[in-house]
Amino acid sequence: MSPSFLDRFKNGLSKTRALLNADVGDLLRGHRPLRPEDLDALEEALLAADMGVPAVQEAMEHLRSKSGEVWTQGVEAMRALLRDEILAAVDRPLRSQPFSAKPWVVFVVGVNGVGKTTTIGKLAATWKAQGLTTLLCAADTFRAAAAEQLEIWARRTASPFHRGAEGADPSAVLTDGLRAARSHDYDAVLVDTAGRLHTKGNLMAELSKMARVAAREVPGAPHETLLVMDATVGSNGLAQGREFAKAAGVTGLVLTKLDGTAKGGAAVAVVRELGVPIRYVGVGETLEDLLAFDAAAFADSLLAD
Ligand code: GDP
Repeated sequence: MSPSFLDRFKNGLSKTRALLNADVGDLLRGHRPLRPEDLDALEEALLAADMGVPAVQEAMEHLRSKSGEVWTQGVEAMRALLRDEILAAVDRPLRSQPFSAKPWVVFVVGVNGVGKTTTIGKLAATWKAQGLTTLLCAADTFRAAAAEQLEIWARRTASPFHRGAEGADPSAVLTDGLRAARSHDYDAVLVDTAGRLHTKGNLMAELSKMARVAAREVPGAPHETLLVMDATVGSNGLAQGREFAKAAGVTGLVLTKLDGTAKGGAAVAVVRELGVPIRYVGVGETLEDLLAFDAAAFADSLLAD
């Protein structure tokens, strides 16, 4: 892993780290002897970072059960235990090997405003830098502005783009997009989906129809379904996440706006709740501000100096 990657992870998590440091920095850095009440302060800090009650309780149980070790071996033992807890909480295996099929079809789902379109642009740019061509497919036909936004990202990243008429059947737009991708031998297709339908039933019906259509056009598609979540809303976004996860068969998460929040601990809460790995994190608004999620880098960055 290049040092710049870790630095960028650290920058993205700087607000969350500042919060932890303000409350328990001394404790984690060994600037004073440990006291039993330190564990309570740590618990509060982790809750404030939005790690979520169940995950924090579990981590604290573990730390308390090892408190003998912590008291005798001091701060390094405490840091190592906490790092391992966080790492274990966010580390999940990938469901599939990216680009093991062509085109690699990725559905991108989530409520409006979380950063779906921006994430698609960033992913297209990342993959382009790896020599891959990605078609951006605007299957959110409810909002004309959504397709226009996506088209801007397609231009910015010099990527092919496909859209349908406003109000067209998203599955029909998707079918045409996938056929175009196949005939041009593109490496990947990123599919932008509607962020809001009138009822949950509609959402489910539409996403499962799109999945069926995708599988008909490209075997195994969608190969990934990424749920984009806004880290600044922290664990409050979980209820929405649950709905999408149920409706869309989510295989991975993208956590955006980590740069803007002290609630980076929400990563732990969402992985625990939804049971799928975080694939990427957004740490800013430009094309370069997307990082492939690395559980070890995440845990290290949270607890770094
Ligand atoms: P969509 O409605 O889900 O497609 O959301 P957009 O992609 O239009 O993003 C909504 C807003 O969030 C825009 O102003 C983006 O610039 C901003 N945004 C997206 N990702 C990030 C991120 O990782 N960090 C920050 N700071 N802003 C982001």
